[in-house]
Amino acid sequence: MGGDAAIIEHDLEQALRDPAVSRHWGGQRKEVKCQNCHAISVFVDGRVAQRCDFCGSPAIVAHEEMQDAITPQSILPFNVSDGQVRDRIRQWYGSRWFAPNRLKTAALTDTIHGVYLPYWTFDAHAHAQWSADAGHYYYTTETYRDSNGQTKSRQVRHVRWTPASGSLSHFFDDTLVPGTKGVHPKLLRQVEPFPTQTSLKPYAPEYVRGWTVERYQVDLRRAAQLGQKQMSEQLHQMCAQQVPGDTHRNLQVDARYQGRTFKHVLVPVWLVHYTYGRTTYQIIANGYTGQLAGERPYSVVKIALAVLLGLVLLALVLYYGQLQ
Ligand SMILES: [Zn+2]
Repeated sequence: MGGDAAIIEHDLEQALRDPAVSRHWGGQRKEVKCQNCHAISVFVDGRVAQRCDFCGSPAIVAHEEMQDAITPQSILPFNVSDGQVRDRIRQWYGSRWFAPNRLKTAALTDTIHGVYLPYWTFDAHAHAQWSADAGHYYYTTETYRDSNGQTKSRQVRHVRWTPASGSLSHFFDDTLVPGTKGVHPKLLRQVEPFPTQTSLKPYAPEYVRGWTVERYQVDLRRAAQLGQKQMSEQLHQMCAQQVPGDTHRNLQVDARYQGRTFKHVLVPVWLVHYTYGRTTYQIIANGYTGQLAGERPYSVVKIALAVLLGLVLLALVLYYGQLQ
């Protein structure tokens, strides 16, 4: 629920039938779409960026607002400053092995962009009935002859299977599904989680004024499927833990979900993109926790030197090994 009574959860079933749950952003909004990375940026009451905040491309064009656009219900405000993130990026560069030297200086001059990313969160009450074969280990002692013809004994493990069944209920609170196109999914996973259960605020235009907001491109229907998949996988694991004994097989879970609701939320990230050679690399920091992840090039020269050094050392070891 997010701990704040003013944050509204929408009924999922109803919204999937009738997607017109849209509310106003609370200001003049403009949308642009990047022709390079296809991210759609929203600007409320303010300047429109001349370059894409996600990849740096100047190829951005005005984007028509979609009819079914669902506006955010809540927002996680920024909690770390761009200065703090810059320090972390400097450390990060310093600790990268085989990064080209030029990178370390380039990183300090790059612009850091604060961006709000779209997420969906889903809640549901789940009731599950499960059945499985519970496996109990038991051991017998076997005698055998070893290679010298001597008689020895050893413990052998067996499994006794018994039928088992049970049920459980669970409330899923804020199962998160990202709706972003601009940030690479692998990087995003590395800077999660965003503390949406404790620190969300009701959406207000003041939060996003002057910032770039990314428009979601994973729609509610698709996001709901992904959220459902996460929940059923988690539920399956919880049922597996309830099976008595040492192991199990043939676990069947029959689950019912009730009271499914969703929210569209915005979460903060700091983004840096830089080009090295012909490739654009992205660095992302969680705007609330400061957690950092980045893509980086490898210095061919440094790797070649390291390999060479390794070969020389190996040759020395072999050489001195032969002398003895
Ligand atoms: Zn772009």
